Amino acid sequence: MTKEEIRAKIIEIRHHIHMYPETGMDTVQTADYVAKIMEDLGCEVTRGIGTNGVVATMKCGDGKGMIGLRADMDALNIQEDNDLPYKSQVPGKMHGCGHDSHTATLIGAAMLLKESQDFNGTVVFVFQPGEEPGLGAKAMIADGLFEKFPMTEIYGQHNQPDQPLGTIKTRAGQIRSSEDDFWITIKGKGGHASAPHLVHDPLVAAAEIIMQLQTIISRNVNPLDAATVSCCDIKTDGVMNALPTNITILGDCRTYNPAVSQLIEKKMRQIVASVCEANDCEGEVKYDRVFIPAINDAACTQVVIDTATKLFGPEKVIVSEFPGSASEDFGQFSAIVPGCLFDIGTLPEGAVTFAPKHNAHYVFNDDAILVGSEMFAQIVRNRLK
Ligand SMILES: [Zn+2]
Ligand SMILES: [Zn+2]
Repeated sequence: MTKEEIRAKIIEIRHHIHMYPETGMDTVQTADYVAKIMEDLGCEVTRGIGTNGVVATMKCGDGKGMIGLRADMDALNIQEDNDLPYKSQVPGKMHGCGHDSHTATLIGAAMLLKESQDFNGTVVFVFQPGEEPGLGAKAMIADGLFEKFPMTEIYGQHNQPDQPLGTIKTRAGQIRSSEDDFWITIKGKGGHASAPHLVHDPLVAAAEIIMQLQTIISRNVNPLDAATVSCCDIKTDGVMNALPTNITILGDCRTYNPAVSQLIEKKMRQIVASVCEANDCEGEVKYDRVFIPAINDAACTQVVIDTATKLFGPEKVIVSEFPGSASEDFGQFSAIVPGCLFDIGTLPEGAVTFAPKHNAHYVFNDDAILVGSEMFAQIVRNRLK
């Protein structure tokens, strides 16, 4: 296959995946579709790693080296609002983060390497479910991913609709934040809205907690440590003329430093306990660390920078000063073996507006699809000589 034929083929593959999005860990059909394509490419394919993870290996020469490349396969619970010939056929689900492109891109890398046969060792193609909920990487690791496929480095990429088309952006060290999810439940004593003296109002306590949580970042966290504490939803019993008994506040915190995450949890528990006590309510905090910060290994990052510079020229390489504020399940893999996550820009020159990721109007720009494939293939050639 020529490069152009590979490009056309992986665009077709992406559109197919886009039409049938699956979310979370339930990427059954996507995994099956990917596994069949990788088998047809002559890879040895292992299915069902960490529920619906797929691992394909491709060998060339007699080298003992083993390099991992990762893509995610899951979509989002968003109703697509695009008029595309390959629009999502599943109500309420869409590939709104472009993981369809990541999967197709990784398949494209396998196609390029199969054609060129110019590496010496083993490539491990890792297709994970459940990136969005932060469950897939942990599940694959717990299922023995690194024991069964003892890769010594791993690389991953994410599309970025606000980054210039064809640019590669990365940095050594922190590349993505953690995500800590919290649930604060407050139990008061509900009653008639006209008789507040007979109730213990959890709404007033909730309002005070929400305001006090704002002081964690401004008063407790070192200003040189970036972090966020966001209350994202509040649920009550929801009756117009009755004060509620139960309230739940949902939210999430982001940090780049585990000690800051610990501090936020400690202060949150203190605030909830003291405000609830003052308001005659009972409070409880559930605090879950869903994503750990994703850290790029310095040497692997240099591999990505050198590869991108050689392939596309120095003007296409961006070494970012700061990490991204989103979280990324890739961090679980790169916490075990050295790795590098890089971003690929998809914003065409001169474009002023774009739909961000996780938006119902988001569309991946197919003009960028081969960039990641070429990056992955060249990284393999550089590392498995
Ligand atoms: Zn996403
Ligand atoms: Zn994503």
